Amino acid sequence: MPKILVAGELNPDMILHECGEFPTPGKEVLAGDFAMVLGSASAICAMGLARLGNAVSFLSRIGIDLWGDLWLEILERGGLDVSKVIRDPTLKTGVTVSISSSKDRALVTFLGAIADLHEQDIPDGVLKEFDHLHVSSYFLQQRLRPGCRKLFARAGRLGLTTSLDPGHDPSENWEKDLLQTLEETDLFFPNEIEALAITRAQTPEQSLRLVANGRTLTVVKLGSQGCVAMREGQLLHQPAFPVEPVDTTGAGDSFNAGFLHAWLRRLNLPDCLRFGTACGALSTLKPGGTGGQPDASELEAFLSKIQIVS
Ligand code: ADP
Repeated sequence: MPKILVAGELNPDMILHECGEFPTPGKEVLAGDFAMVLGSASAICAMGLARLGNAVSFLSRIGIDLWGDLWLEILERGGLDVSKVIRDPTLKTGVTVSISSSKDRALVTFLGAIADLHEQDIPDGVLKEFDHLHVSSYFLQQRLRPGCRKLFARAGRLGLTTSLDPGHDPSENWEKDLLQTLEETDLFFPNEIEALAITRAQTPEQSLRLVANGRTLTVVKLGSQGCVAMREGQLLHQPAFPVEPVDTTGAGDSFNAGFLHAWLRRLNLPDCLRFGTACGALSTLKPGGTGGQPDASELEAFLSKIQIVS
């Protein structure tokens, strides 16, 4: 079984649902419901891979605080190895608070330790233990980003394959260092908005042509339209599976987990796209990023049911 290292951020979401009114300064409102869910792209993808039965280690830099303890326990219960997580007494684990009423939603994020992981936190001695390295939230991981190309090059030299999900760029600058990092990257998983912004393209197809570098396999995730990839100049489109989504949070991260699960077992590209698309679809059926992630037999059952229907 391939050993996978996911290096990235750990940031819970606290969601206050059904607030009677949207809060205004100086007033208190009551929420009808409350949930705490795993919020970060890296951790959601790592949980999806573990749920599918993969051997996954999570490497992150977090604070020595109750939040950190709690989320490490949740990851461990999800089957992840967290022994490589670095606890740093100078940092606080971050959090996003989401407040929603029937009329509006507001998000407040304290980034905390998210931006503090450094390329040198992942030395060769650690990389050597693994077969694959995945990194998400390229633009949010401000300290990892400048060293990401070097990290992937080191991983490649040590025989690991690599994958990268850019996530959104909060600065909206979408700078070109990402394209240089891709020269050392095997798999690239942007969604449509990200792919168009990074390449300044008008269509996903054009973005695939612009991002092609002779090495990286890029898959553009298209939400309810499925996904598209390009192989030897030919487009491969996998339509989305018909589901009625409850919450699409983290669908792209679950997609990555499904695609990687198949790709690391050397399945062909159309099957990798189907596995990713199925995991993306299933993740939308439950609230939060990880609630709907399938295990291997649930994924198989979903794919065979779909095949019978179509
Ligand atoms: P991200 O979460 O990164 O923005 P997408 O929204 O493109 O990524 O979703 C990732 C994948 O999840 C899609 O490629 C698709 O397979 C699946 N998915 C997302 N939304 C839907 C939907 N409404 N119906 C079916 N599948 C969906």
